[in-house]
Amino acid sequence: IKIKITNVDIPVAFASAFEGEIIRRGDMQVEFDGSRVDCAELVHTCEMTEIEDHKITVVGPEVDDMELGSKNSIAYVVKVAGKNMQPDFEPVIERKFHNYINCIEGVYHTGQRDMQRIRISKDAFAAGFKIKHIGEVLYSQVKNEFDAVVDKCEVVIYTDPAECTRIRHEVAIPIFNKRDDRLATLTDESVDVYYSCILCQAFSPSHVCVVTPERLGLCGAVSWLDAKATHQLDPNGPCQEITKERVIDEELGAYEDVNEAVQKYSQGALEKVTLYSIMQDPMTSCGCFECICGIEPFSNGVVIANREYAGMTPLGMTFPEMASMTGGGVQTPGFMGHGKHFIGSKKFMKAEGGIERIVWMPKELKEFVADRLNATAKELYGIDNFTDMIGDETVAEDPETLVAFLTEKGHPALGLEPMM
Ligand code: SF4
Ligand code: ZN
Repeated sequence: IKIKITNVDIPVAFASAFEGEIIRRGDMQVEFDGSRVDCAELVHTCEMTEIEDHKITVVGPEVDDMELGSKNSIAYVVKVAGKNMQPDFEPVIERKFHNYINCIEGVYHTGQRDMQRIRISKDAFAAGFKIKHIGEVLYSQVKNEFDAVVDKCEVVIYTDPAECTRIRHEVAIPIFNKRDDRLATLTDESVDVYYSCILCQAFSPSHVCVVTPERLGLCGAVSWLDAKATHQLDPNGPCQEITKERVIDEELGAYEDVNEAVQKYSQGALEKVTLYSIMQDPMTSCGCFECICGIEPFSNGVVIANREYAGMTPLGMTFPEMASMTGGGVQTPGFMGHGKHFIGSKKFMKAEGGIERIVWMPKELKEFVADRLNATAKELYGIDNFTDMIGDETVAEDPETLVAFLTEKGHPALGLEPMM
């Protein structure tokens, strides 16, 4: 027998009204920050006998034991079991943690995997909110939303720093790598269907992402495998299959099937999109792109900026300024939102020549994508250490300096045809 949990037993309110709530440094009791200390969030599929349903364990200090304003480690492992559960569903459930934790009054959550950040406000702490209540929320929401596959659920939350380090490095990262490797073996050509995602229509009513093995959703959080799992979990939900039988143009990634799908899921707002071009019918952007690329006319190339980058780009625009031109679910040729992992893809702007158009990226982003990007450049063009040819903020923040740098490095974009 399955019981629907409607009430969450925590000392503060739980409602979607709190999702947008921001907790400023001065209002915060404690924070957890995966970019500074070891953190992780993980769903782990277990055998039925390994799990005690609704058991919530905290290993390490509670909020009371943490210093006011301190930065701490946290790692939560949500163990699930059920006869219809599949490991492919794990990342889809994990992705919902962001919503669940954000719905808690006085608690804020961003990021995912081992890079999440959580703040607990002074008010929530004063109301008696504790770490174990995060477990309570995760338990009840996972049981609620995923009752088709999760029969039993147990939550272990680690706050002991040594345990968090162990969970992150010995448990979570190997699992994340395994998932990424599985995806890396898939190509757009090797699958029969792509997936639409309309999760963002709540904010961007006409926006549709078309998710393929080599092009993940622009939020960076929905891979083709995730979209597939989402579709299996909820056949009438946000991710629908798109066939790819009627090719219009292979280079552009244009398909009649894809066009029909975006027409349908955008309620007619969109006529057609291509998968591999930023100039011709590019995919639309909502607001949650990890990165934006935009054409840089002096070098025949493109500049990419990531959300975390606060500085200036050689386009004379900051990330927010680029974002204001790109978002809202409309097509803006020459500008495109995308996920970080798309940068190393063989399908990145394939129609315009591919990754050899990339002339500038913030240093941090360049380092983050270097391994994959360099491997792709080697494979496609025979270029070694391609990232060394790409400018960053330490090299240039204006087009003249950038072009001089690219010329010195012999960057291939300079020899390509102008994009407009
Ligand atoms: Fe889905 Fe795209 Fe929104 Fe990501 S950005 S949640 S893939 S619609
Ligand atoms: Zn979005």
